[in-house]
Amino acid sequence: MATGPLRLTDRPVPEPGQGELLIRVLCCGVCRTDLHLAEGDLRPRRADVTPGHEVVGEVVAAGDGTTRFGPGDRVGVAWLAGTDGSCRYCRRGSENLCPRSVYTGWDRDGGYAEYLLAADGYVHPLPSGFSDAELAPLLCAGIIGYRALRRAELPPGGRLGIWGFGGSAHLAAQVAMAGGAAVHVFTRAPAARRLALDLGAASAQDSFDPSPEPLDSAIIFAPVGDVVPPALRNLDRGGTLAIAGIHLSDIPALNYTGDLFQERTLRSVTANTRGDAEEFLRLAERLRLRVSVTPYPLDAADRALADLAADRITGAAVLMMT
Ligand SMILES: [Zn+2]
Ligand SMILES: [Zn+2]
Repeated sequence: MATGPLRLTDRPVPEPGQGELLIRVLCCGVCRTDLHLAEGDLRPRRADVTPGHEVVGEVVAAGDGTTRFGPGDRVGVAWLAGTDGSCRYCRRGSENLCPRSVYTGWDRDGGYAEYLLAADGYVHPLPSGFSDAELAPLLCAGIIGYRALRRAELPPGGRLGIWGFGGSAHLAAQVAMAGGAAVHVFTRAPAARRLALDLGAASAQDSFDPSPEPLDSAIIFAPVGDVVPPALRNLDRGGTLAIAGIHLSDIPALNYTGDLFQERTLRSVTANTRGDAEEFLRLAERLRLRVSVTPYPLDAADRALADLAADRITGAAVLMMT
């Protein structure tokens, strides 16, 4: 981020094509994936793509063939922007694994902008009871955190460990606690530890501290492979560790007996399905999740990403258009 990789440019307002909506952006969340893209951990799929995939906006025009939304509707645009709908993964309900899937702010221009286009079939209705800024982090941080929580196979009333406590983790933790879980948080950021305890976490400690009790499930949100062995070691027999991020630094060598034996499971999380999004957004409304937001103006996107890289943001950063 030190080189200022983002450029503020003027482009014509795009025209919606077949099945597309033109959306005026009200605000857009800043996700760690945007940082990976800006810093080159994640290769761009298209030159000069506009980042941003936690978009809260208002439909201003609808192209031919749109059926779900029209002008005036407030909608959310998330990471998954399209799939082929026909491959073996799509047919079995795993559209998140579709090899021809496309993503907002990676393949298609995203929400660090005043306007964007999105496919009608991949746009989400928004839950009520939240401000625009609070809604934005729900759209990726929230949805991915929810999928990660499900992938971690947390039993009802179980013990969950969370490594890294930013936008995604602070929402997933609340969902877990609503289900009666004891949540233990591991992060190097003191402000994030305070937020965790404030939200009701059972404990909060440094990334490499031992867990106060064995864990049934764990989720790694930090993009740091070094925490995989300690997370595995803190699992109880038969426990599951899910890695939530799209990018992780290399995982150090594991010790089979100490880290994996006794049927501990290590798994990844890859994007999300539209079903995950629908379920999570309904749940967010029902549970009245608390969303911790730090607002930035659009032209401070570089600063927001730099703050995210340096752990200076508590909760989620959101770019506001006005
Ligand atoms: Zn497919
Ligand atoms: Zn994201």
